Amino acid sequence: MFDYQAPKQLLKDKIVLVTGAGDGIGKTAAITYAEHGATVILLGRTTKKLEEVYDEIEQKKLPQAAIVPLNLDGAAEHDFLELANTIECEFGRLDGILHNASMLGEREPISSYDPVLFEQVMRVNVTSQLILTQALLPLLKKANHASVVFTSSGVGKTAKANWGAYAVSKFATEAMVQLFANESAEFTPTVRTNAINPGATRTKMRATAYPSEDPNTLATASDIMPAYLYLMGDDSLEINGHSINAQ
Ligand code: NDP
Repeated sequence: MFDYQAPKQLLKDKIVLVTGAGDGIGKTAAITYAEHGATVILLGRTTKKLEEVYDEIEQKKLPQAAIVPLNLDGAAEHDFLELANTIECEFGRLDGILHNASMLGEREPISSYDPVLFEQVMRVNVTSQLILTQALLPLLKKANHASVVFTSSGVGKTAKANWGAYAVSKFATEAMVQLFANESAEFTPTVRTNAINPGATRTKMRATAYPSEDPNTLATASDIMPAYLYLMGDDSLEINGHSINAQ
């Protein structure tokens, strides 16, 4: 595992948006960030799941969260600008984004991959993340130091057979991280951008991709949180344009 011990108040008073916060790694990251002092904005497409995460944060008496039900497939620029407006009115700035939501698409050869599904995967996993980041950049710039964390994958570095649009989307994610980071000195000097590859983690997406695998052999979302905390907190201020492995 990534070797980092986060101070208990690492994210005290920080405002952090987590996408796909209703389930899997995103849910655990949102609760972990709240446990380290952050006010988390929970974005996802299933309101009931977001409400359960909200309630869990409330029950633990952590900083009160906010809920943003939004399906990244079909969300348009005005949805993201509206979100930016809401965050501005409520909080005045944004200290971090964890781009965690993704869809797997189908596991099939690229030679016969459905182009309609390909576009959908790219929309959810890449385009929506770009537009969301663009919409929120003015608020990120208002923070003293802001961290944008994208979620990559092993197949975002080596495209294994049958990973289709998902692999293409994760390569694109790696490129987007490098572009934001390489352009930051000129445009966004206080905003750093990095990627995390969670590695094989016990979630619904992993079970869908590897149905015959025993989930008990895998790391849990809690196990991989040190890397998520490190990149979101100020201990990683000097890290920009990196892609780190959580395991
Ligand atoms: P899960 O499928 O368990 O959770 C994904 C989350 O994203 C869910 O909350 C889901 O919402 C949300 N989501 C999916 N599509 C949309 C959408 N269109 N709009 C809004 N929210 C959406 O996945 P994991 O937790 O396993 O994965 C999290 C990230 O980690 C992903 O980026 C994935 O690619 C990456 N990853 C995971 C690995 C693993 O082994 N688990 C390995 C490598 C990378 P809902 O619950 O409502 O469906």
